Amino acid sequence: MKKPLSICVYCGSRSGASPVYTQAAQSVGWWIGQRGARLVYGGGHAGLMGAVADATLASGGQVFGVIPRALQSRELAHNGITELHVVDTMHQRKALMAQESDVFLALPGGIGTLEELFEVWTWLQLGYHDKPVGLLNVSGYFDDLLRFMGHTTSQGFVSVEQHALLQVGTDTEHLLNQLAALAQRSTIDGGYAQI
Ligand code: AMP
Repeated sequence: MKKPLSICVYCGSRSGASPVYTQAAQSVGWWIGQRGARLVYGGGHAGLMGAVADATLASGGQVFGVIPRALQSRELAHNGITELHVVDTMHQRKALMAQESDVFLALPGGIGTLEELFEVWTWLQLGYHDKPVGLLNVSGYFDDLLRFMGHTTSQGFVSVEQHALLQVGTDTEHLLNQLAALAQRSTIDGGYAQI
């Protein structure tokens, strides 16, 4: 049987100040479920994380969650998902999430989301993997960050090519279709094992 396309979603463990963020997380989950794809995520039940997992399950998709033991014991895990892997450390979690995924997508979130996004973007830039990395700019949430990234480029710390590795979009369906098409070209399998 063909392996489903696996979409790693990084997003807030909170819901944010507007319902548009939850709606966007749900639209990502519906896209995943309707395409017969699989969600890979941090295994939580709260905030946008819970919303994307619930929408994926409700539309018939599989959900693969990875949570460190310390977070699981704080009852932050989502217990209704297809597979929940409990690991010892945050590093193991991130490595397993990355290995299991074909595509990375960041949605609005906080420090955790930003850290995860910048890590996979950095590793793409370094050639540790060649999986597409996307950012869904819901309701202008990331406008200031994108402006700042323009500044990092104009000031000579980030090249135009490095900047362009991040696929930015405002429409869920369009961005996910684009990332799925790019994933077909990815050739470095299991590149994370070398890190
Ligand atoms: P944040 O954006 O700071 O809310 O952090 C969310 C990101 O960090 C997610 O993509 C998760 O992988 C991880 N994370 C942070 N808090 C939690 C939590 N309470 N439960 C599960 N994962 C979390």
